[in-house]
Amino acid sequence: MKMDILPPSEWGFFTLPRPCVIAGPCSAESEEQVLETAVGLRKFGINMFRAGIWKPRTHPGCFEGVGAPGLKWLQEVKKQTGMKVSCEVASTQHVFECVKHGVDMVWIGARTTANPFLVQEIAEALQGTDMTVLVKNPVNPDLDLWIGAFERLNNCGIRKLGAIHRGVSTSQKIKYRNDPAWDMAIGLRYKVPELPIFCDPSHMAGKREYIKELSQRALDLGFEGLMIESHNCPDCALSDAKQQLTPADLLNLLEGPDHIVVRDGDTQDSSFRENMVQLRAKIDVIDENIINLLAQRMEVSRKIGEFKKEHNIPIIQAARWDSVLDRMIEAGTQAGLSEQCVRDVFNAVHDESVDVQHKML
Ligand code: PEP
Ligand code: MN
Repeated sequence: MKMDILPPSEWGFFTLPRPCVIAGPCSAESEEQVLETAVGLRKFGINMFRAGIWKPRTHPGCFEGVGAPGLKWLQEVKKQTGMKVSCEVASTQHVFECVKHGVDMVWIGARTTANPFLVQEIAEALQGTDMTVLVKNPVNPDLDLWIGAFERLNNCGIRKLGAIHRGVSTSQKIKYRNDPAWDMAIGLRYKVPELPIFCDPSHMAGKREYIKELSQRALDLGFEGLMIESHNCPDCALSDAKQQLTPADLLNLLEGPDHIVVRDGDTQDSSFRENMVQLRAKIDVIDENIINLLAQRMEVSRKIGEFKKEHNIPIIQAARWDSVLDRMIEAGTQAGLSEQCVRDVFNAVHDESVDVQHKML
């Protein structure tokens, strides 16, 4: 599908080359905290400040943001530093307050993107404004729901439009707060190539130690920008304390001796290299998915092994395996794979599965 979208170079605040960096605290907490953080970020050229004003919290009674009075602090940031400012909106009321206070950019949070009624209302409230709007992926891995949000905004005339990939909720035990689900962002790039994509490694990671590796991965995949939470005193933060960086640590990540590497593609040659890096990064994601699927398959094999043991059935069921292999060869050749490749791969999978079941005897 083709959307009518302006590239970030025409939004008026990102100076390319990439990455476009948005930084600031999870939440605006006080005027001093907001201003001190903004001044720290401005020193090394960050010109889009973020701060949550209304916070979607899992439990009631947690810090739910300072609300509209915090928008005055953002106005002060603009006045004192010349930065542009942004915050999350989750209702038409939030949109009206942001427009009234001269907020330059808003984003729709992951929980809100999952609700088409709210996205539609927000899109209609934004109609006729010159607002830049970013949309986080929904908390569940539903690419079409994410795309639907862009369509609703674009239909209401929003052309300065971008995506923020922040990973998805998972019940699996993983090292990050959210499953990076890179294939969802890759799917978005394929389906809406004109849409710029930002990564939010802070909410993806949940812990500051993982922010760098996730940022680099996003740049390798060709994302246009990063949204990184930064607080003048991360450990004192009222929300997401573990995943925020001081402005100095952010500077180190972007420009320090071991900084993240921007894949830049101006000349023929470097554009070739950039394509290669991006394609390899995609291959890496697919390979990880293959490993995860194989691990899931072996888990099922283990359960089958248990049943066979309970019912005293031998592990090898030759007729069943022949029919599986025939089916896979047919599907594989239809998908353009050679018969030999399918045979080799599935025989290796079968061997491993027999081994897994054998160990249970
Ligand atoms: C945020 O950016 O502060 C936030 C709440 O993020 P998300 O919607 O990704 O959880
Ligand atoms: Mn946060």
